[in-house]
Amino acid sequence: MKVFVVNCGSSSIKFQLIDMETEIPLAKGQIERIGSEGSFLKLTPTGKYTVDLPMDVPNHDVGIRVILDALQNKDYGVIKTLEEIDAIGHRVVHGGERFTDSVLITQEVMDGIQACSAMAPLHNPPNLFGIKACMELMPTTPQVAVFDTAFHQTMPKIAYLYGLPYEMYVKYGLRRYGFHGTSHKYVAQVAAEMMQEHMSDLRIITCHLGNGASITAIKYGKSIDTSMGYTPLEGLIMGTRSGEIDPAIVPFLMEKENMTAPQIDEYLNKRSGILGISGLSSDFRDLESAANRGDERSQLAIDIFAYKVKKYIGGYVAAMGGVDAIVFTAGLGENSPFMRDKICNGLEYLGTRIDQERNKVRGKAQEISVKRATVKIFVIPTNEELVIARDTYNICKRIIKL
Ligand code: AMP
Repeated sequence: MKVFVVNCGSSSIKFQLIDMETEIPLAKGQIERIGSEGSFLKLTPTGKYTVDLPMDVPNHDVGIRVILDALQNKDYGVIKTLEEIDAIGHRVVHGGERFTDSVLITQEVMDGIQACSAMAPLHNPPNLFGIKACMELMPTTPQVAVFDTAFHQTMPKIAYLYGLPYEMYVKYGLRRYGFHGTSHKYVAQVAAEMMQEHMSDLRIITCHLGNGASITAIKYGKSIDTSMGYTPLEGLIMGTRSGEIDPAIVPFLMEKENMTAPQIDEYLNKRSGILGISGLSSDFRDLESAANRGDERSQLAIDIFAYKVKKYIGGYVAAMGGVDAIVFTAGLGENSPFMRDKICNGLEYLGTRIDQERNKVRGKAQEISVKRATVKIFVIPTNEELVIARDTYNICKRIIKL
């Protein structure tokens, strides 16, 4: 069975075609700059060279067509006809309180995703464009929606309600939803396997540290708290997002800097975070080299980030009454021994310590705590596409004749 995994962003489409017998992608790639000049498709058939194809992609509908054509191309494609695709799995960012698990897409589900668009105006509409485009081109192929928010729907009210009048929760659904759920769930499952235990017996803190960053407390297999909130802006300081700030700063800045609501939203999402503090870059690689050259603000941005992560870890240990494992994943978590060391330095009181030799690992699943540590620390590369493909497979295998 082959599953086409689609992740539509506002100006990009990432995709993989995964063979579920081996769980290995036959091809992966992306389209970027949709709707702008200079859009292009990158396709990497597994084991072959990447093909770069500049082309005009004005919208997601055309984007999906272009990808499916490329997958069938006689020179660099990996399938002969679209009939070889058995099912399609879509990443959908916001499922609100309605979607607590992945679902087979029907008109009712699409209406539900549309209804959640108010909470994720930049994300859910492109997700729906992708679903509709696939439906047009492959009307009989089953499609599944896998939600970023679903894994966090187990959070209790004490973790997800804000200190606002309760009516605002009832009227607008203003509460913590959390994101990166697919990633947190996946790396926690792998950590449990590596410990030869069941997730239902463990308390795990998962740190998804990429350009967007969030931390989750997973108690006995369930997300009980997470750092992102109503939107992905809350929580840790990130590449360009401020993370948590005193909400009174918002009206202050709007007045003093003469900003409208969309402008302050852009300011906090795109121009703040480590980019704003360093004044240099949103990429930790740039900050690490600038700090090594003595750039003080880059050093400060790194220090603030590590401090915030450490504070969240401490908070979640308290929330769960202990911890058995801490997991690092995503771009920074998987690739920066320096940042992992900085975060874990001082957590020895928990019963853990990083092993400097093991911590040299990059992009590979490995335990990095010292041998006798009672709290294990892991690096585990995330694989959201595989989770989407697995959920799609599990939901569709009942309805597809294999
Ligand atoms: P992601 O959003 O998961 O793709 O992560 C992207 C971020 O990971 C980049 O912006 C970098 O800050 C960080 N990153 C990736 N590779 C490295 C590395 N080798 N060292 C430090 N940071 C890295």
